[in-house]
Amino acid sequence: MTPPVLSLKILLIENDPAAANEIRTALTAAGDSSFDVEWVQLLSDGLERLSKRGIAAVLLELCLPDSEGIETFDKLFTVAPDVPILILGGNANEALAKEAVGRGAQDYLLPGHLDSYSLPRAQRNAIERKVVEDALYVEKERALVTLNSIGDAVLCTDISGNITYLNLVAEAMTGWPRKEAIGKPLAEVFQIIDGATRQPAQDPMEMAMAQNRTVGLTVDCVLIRRDAFESAIEDSAAPIHDRAGRVIGAVIVFHDVSAARAMSQQMTHSAQHDVVTNLPNRMLLNDRISQSISLARRQHRPLAVLFLDLDRFKYINDSLGHAVGDQLLQSIAKRLLASVRNSDTVSRQGGDEFVILLSEISHPEDAATSARKILLSLNVPHSIDGHDLHIAGSMGISIYPGDGEDAETLIKNADTAMYHAKESGRNNFQFFKPEMNRQAVERQSLEGSLRQAVERGGFLLHYQPKINLFTGQITGAEALIRWQHPNRGLVSPAQFVPIAEDCGLILPIGRWVLREACKQAREWQDAGLPFKRVSVNVSATEFRAKTFLEDVGTTLRETGLEARYLDLELTEGVLMQNAKSTASVLQELKRMGVHLAVDDFGTGYSSLSYLRQFPIDVLKIDQSFVRQISDDPSDSAIVRAIIDMSKNLKKRVIAEGIETQEQLALLRSWHCAEGQGYLFSRPVPAAQLAQLLQTGVSETVAK
Ligand code: C2E
Ligand code: MG
Ligand code: MG
Repeated sequence: MTPPVLSLKILLIENDPAAANEIRTALTAAGDSSFDVEWVQLLSDGLERLSKRGIAAVLLELCLPDSEGIETFDKLFTVAPDVPILILGGNANEALAKEAVGRGAQDYLLPGHLDSYSLPRAQRNAIERKVVEDALYVEKERALVTLNSIGDAVLCTDISGNITYLNLVAEAMTGWPRKEAIGKPLAEVFQIIDGATRQPAQDPMEMAMAQNRTVGLTVDCVLIRRDAFESAIEDSAAPIHDRAGRVIGAVIVFHDVSAARAMSQQMTHSAQHDVVTNLPNRMLLNDRISQSISLARRQHRPLAVLFLDLDRFKYINDSLGHAVGDQLLQSIAKRLLASVRNSDTVSRQGGDEFVILLSEISHPEDAATSARKILLSLNVPHSIDGHDLHIAGSMGISIYPGDGEDAETLIKNADTAMYHAKESGRNNFQFFKPEMNRQAVERQSLEGSLRQAVERGGFLLHYQPKINLFTGQITGAEALIRWQHPNRGLVSPAQFVPIAEDCGLILPIGRWVLREACKQAREWQDAGLPFKRVSVNVSATEFRAKTFLEDVGTTLRETGLEARYLDLELTEGVLMQNAKSTASVLQELKRMGVHLAVDDFGTGYSSLSYLRQFPIDVLKIDQSFVRQISDDPSDSAIVRAIIDMSKNLKKRVIAEGIETQEQLALLRSWHCAEGQGYLFSRPVPAAQLAQLLQTGVSETVAK
């Protein structure tokens, strides 16, 4: 059995039976079973048959009993636009047949071509062409729908750069409707500029066509819409080729990146600026200094880096809160900006530190002028949240190229100079000097070995007796710390206590001193020696430490020393800072039974009122006054006044630093009851003090 052959069903609409027969014969001649012809004589029958589907093509005679002329074709085409239609054109109505082809018919056949060779060929061609046409149509439709539904704008040009196509997004972004845009030169519709320079950006289409490859648009490209609205865009252009590979135009694809670009600009800004003040941060400052250095190098000019640290900022921040602290920093930022030129950079390094780059100085003295101006501007009270805040700053200055040839060195040296400005009394500025670095290095190494000493117990205490100036008896002793340095020998507290205060090591050191002194005092008492009171020096940092009261209590308990045998020596400065909290700590110490002494009395900012306000037991007259009493009448007047005042206030008074018999005689004549000094004894190790307790101090002293 032969397999069934799938034949194409052809609908023949022809009124004339003879013509119909001729056609059927031509199509099915020589046993060709590829066509199966169905014949109807009326258009209405044909339409009905078509509605049932299965027809591969129609052969149509335009003059039928129920329809005449081009209408015949139109009616059929409306019903079956998908089916290829071939018109049977008589010689007389070839014009009509042609018209039908213009309206969608595949082709027409003239009477001379209805033979068994030409007709099937024409029929097959018509069917195939229709298939290809339909596929092309679908593809074109699909492309159009795609182009209109994607988020990117698409714009095409011909070889001469005239617009041939825009999708909907491109219409919206350029502001040009397709109808108006088509045929216009690209530059008119697609206006782009470089966002940074605002100069016209390079024509991407020309580039794509010239280089015959896909090219990216200019970085930072901005599209100007027809109504002048601007949007940041990004993307590429590619050449369009014909079948022979020749460039015949270009397509540009682009999309709006305004939001992304704004976001990235925002992110760059935050990465380079300080959140509180919005000033450039360390990173941006480094960049700016480096840039300025390259310029200064070429122009053989100096530039200055100013390092500013606020004095007392931490105190304001702690007592009034961070919100006020932040506002103060903002107010300071404004003052700084107002004090320098636009070309200078004011940056915040963090905390209460600011660095200012002066890029347009012609002489180092200009930096001093700016520094003075800045410090003065800061001094004007800052009115914040109902407070009038007074603040000052200390400033260090380094100058390129002398003090450093890169940003890091300049900042570091300005910082070092700032530190010296702070040491020399705050609210001033200092130029960097190379020896400052040597000092800084020295300090660094001291700090390191100090840390080791704390860990390994490298300290010892010396004791200096306090003497009753009338009886010569030892009334007590002051514990004075010494550092047993591995290479330097005994280091005096003046050399390391300030460093220990700065780096916080004073806390463990102070705790050790207190414990050691109390333990020693208790030992002497237990040994039956005539020993009463021990004095311990307390620095500001120790006194302000939260655990201070607790530490004192614990130490007394654990060493077994009665509180009344402990004197704590505080300087005036410690008492004056934050009088309110000072008073409550002092009160608490008093309640415990500890005695309180003001050390170096007369050197600080004395305020008589605090003497009454605070529960102070002892005033220690500073040795600088005692040293001068024999020669300087004003010093002797001060000392006498202090002695009288302490009598009136019912406080004990101790004269420090008595070195000569003359000084002793004067103090006695003024009825100063107690004293301390080399005349009686230098500070000595514990064992030696024990001896002094037994033998008493030098004979020369008494009476
Ligand atoms: P300060 O408390 O005023 O101690 C008196 C200082 O004067 C001691 O110096 C002592 O040796 C010295 N001195 C005593 N008599 C005379 C004299 O007649 N002539 C002269 N020229 N000097 C005399 P030192 O031991 O070097 O202590 C210096 C400062 O270091 C002390 O001054 C005190 O403020 C501080 N300090 C000492 N030990 C400690 C401590 O354990 N903790 C704390 N925080 N500070 C301490
Ligand atoms: Mg002292
Ligand atoms: Mg003193």
